[in-house]
Amino acid sequence: MFYDLHMHSCLSPCADDTMTPNNICNMAFIKGLDLIAVTDHNSTKNLPAIAEAAAGLGLKMLYGAELETIEEVHVLGLFNTLEKSQIFQEWIDSKMPDVKNDEEFFGHQWIMNAQDEKIGDEPRLLLVSLNATLEETTDAIHQYGGRVILAHVLDRANSVTHQLGFIPMDLPYDGLEVKNEEQRLRVIASNPWVTEDSTNWFIDSDAHYLTDISEADHFLRESVYNKLWGDDV
Ligand SMILES: [Zn+2]
Ligand SMILES: [Zn+2]
Repeated sequence: MFYDLHMHSCLSPCADDTMTPNNICNMAFIKGLDLIAVTDHNSTKNLPAIAEAAAGLGLKMLYGAELETIEEVHVLGLFNTLEKSQIFQEWIDSKMPDVKNDEEFFGHQWIMNAQDEKIGDEPRLLLVSLNATLEETTDAIHQYGGRVILAHVLDRANSVTHQLGFIPMDLPYDGLEVKNEEQRLRVIASNPWVTEDSTNWFIDSDAHYLTDISEADHFLRESVYNKLWGDDV
């Protein structure tokens, strides 16, 4: 399956206002993707609308969010049903500091319906660290039935290697996300306990604009998908 498992909708203040449920799904469809995940910062609240838009196009979806831990590390938590992601929202809410969003400064946090109409605003700023460590966040995602992918692991901001200096050896993550093949080789070269086969690798766009959504370039084998998110998982 051609995939892109890391994109932001107009709920993320840093994403473009054109990142609406139907625009995202239509663009993913046009680009030939089979499997998508929209991972807003610390929120799953646009996923019901996106799920409806994706279903209309026959796009397969995973449901999750990009969580920011107390160490300011970004982690994707991905669930195989919409329902699991909406129950997980309760955990996010319990760890979310109550800071009000300043729309002028950070941007809109629009909650949408499946017709691309705005139905609300998230009042709390989503660009915050949750009151949970990387380990606690990993455990919580697993407890709620999801999978953990460490996001953009070589980025200069909010990546595990930037914040901690390395990929933790004992953290039970399910995948590592890089921007390209060259980065993947660099991660393996600089972390002796990380090998080609020691984890699952993902190359995602982290799109904040429609044009940034991945082309049909990165392929996820059905067997890997089933191991991580199959019905019997
Ligand atoms: Zn990030
Ligand atoms: Zn992101």
